[in-house]
Amino acid sequence: MMGRQRRDQGRLFYEFRLEDRIPENHLLRRMNVFVTVALADLHKELEPHYSDIGRPSIDPELMIRMLIVGYCYGIRSERKLTQEVELHLAYRWFCKLDLDDKVPHHSTFSENRLGRFRESDLLRHIFERVVWTAMAMGLVKGEGFAVDASVLEANASRYHGKAPDELDWTDKQRQTRAVAEYLAALDETAEPNPDRKAPKVISPSDPSSAWTAKANKRVQFGYGLNYLIDIDEAVIVDVEATPARTYDEVEATKTMIDRTEQCFDLKPKRLAADTAYGTGKFLGWLVKDKKITPHIPVRDKSDRDDGTFSRSDFRWDKRGGHYICPNGKVLRTSGTIHGGRTLLYRASKLDCDVCLLKAKCCPKEPARKIPRDLHEDARDVARRKMNTKAFLKSRDQRKKVEMRFAHLKTHHGFERMRLRGLSGVRDEFHLAAIVQNLKMLALRLIRPPPQHACA
Ligand code: SF4
Repeated sequence: MMGRQRRDQGRLFYEFRLEDRIPENHLLRRMNVFVTVALADLHKELEPHYSDIGRPSIDPELMIRMLIVGYCYGIRSERKLTQEVELHLAYRWFCKLDLDDKVPHHSTFSENRLGRFRESDLLRHIFERVVWTAMAMGLVKGEGFAVDASVLEANASRYHGKAPDELDWTDKQRQTRAVAEYLAALDETAEPNPDRKAPKVISPSDPSSAWTAKANKRVQFGYGLNYLIDIDEAVIVDVEATPARTYDEVEATKTMIDRTEQCFDLKPKRLAADTAYGTGKFLGWLVKDKKITPHIPVRDKSDRDDGTFSRSDFRWDKRGGHYICPNGKVLRTSGTIHGGRTLLYRASKLDCDVCLLKAKCCPKEPARKIPRDLHEDARDVARRKMNTKAFLKSRDQRKKVEMRFAHLKTHHGFERMRLRGLSGVRDEFHLAAIVQNLKMLALRLIRPPPQHACA
């Protein structure tokens, strides 16, 4: 016989405990263990940013917990988030709200986010607490790091970009947070950086974003999400927001490596990254200044495909500080630095004029010249590493960063920025990294880390 539901929903009293309704293995219950630790001193952190007088404000822990729920389940609209927390039992439980507790109004988020949370750098503090927890659980080895960046579309229309000389900021535009922040940063910049290309198109609504077609996407305004991960368990040890430009992303890596060393006393022996990071300048910093082994393919355009000698056919004489050509002649430099980073080594015209190899060497020039990066020694270190088994292993391991980005986009619905300006983007990226690390820690509660053979 087919059953039929006969109960009505008009009971006045229920025996109900929210705690009993959340399954033991629910993701939020497992994450709660770590969130409680990370937020332990939250009130103390924020105390200087609250007044002693006036109406009591909404508990910041409640707001942070709600934001964690939002970024975990891909609910990034604060209006939608308040509705979901209102209705969802597990969300209520995680936010420490009882059934009849009021959920804060969505407008309180932007007030606190832009005010107290940003002033106290609260999200950064929480991120660091989560990394400390991962370290305490033995999930961060600190032996090898990997770095990469992913483009996320800015909250700016790609149809309204303007050339820099077309921009004439109105008073109304200047009052928006993103424009004010951008103009303040411009004022602080003493003189333009020659290594950083000037933008060709700027968004009037979010001018800090970069006009980009990176990652084979359509042209759009975007930001770079930079992750530095510990290669062992893919724990995110640092995160940085930049405009979606390769130059800024490589510079951000320096910031992240220095900060990880200062903050967590972690300095890797090797760094895995893709070719975008294989510039002479970055490799020089990594090898000479930081003593970190680069497992990074070198950006090299010196190989020729027209049948003439490539640079690799010329031998570098380290002691003499010159190149030797295939005919045994010396190529010397005048010491002039070209483009801020290259020395030119030239053969003697007298040698080349009578050389039998000239047709294979410099058929269209009077004499051969070889460019050499100021950091060519560091590039050579990276080149030698490229033929090792350890490099191939690092190349596979660095895919873990890409997996982090893929999970963020597919499981957390993180495709486009909600907030504008670098500080808003920075907040969003920190929340994303906090949630991804918390999720990884929560999974470890039911699946402990694998025992390594040498352990
Ligand atoms: S052409 Fe000049 S640089 Fe080239 S192999 Fe001959 S001597 Fe050397």
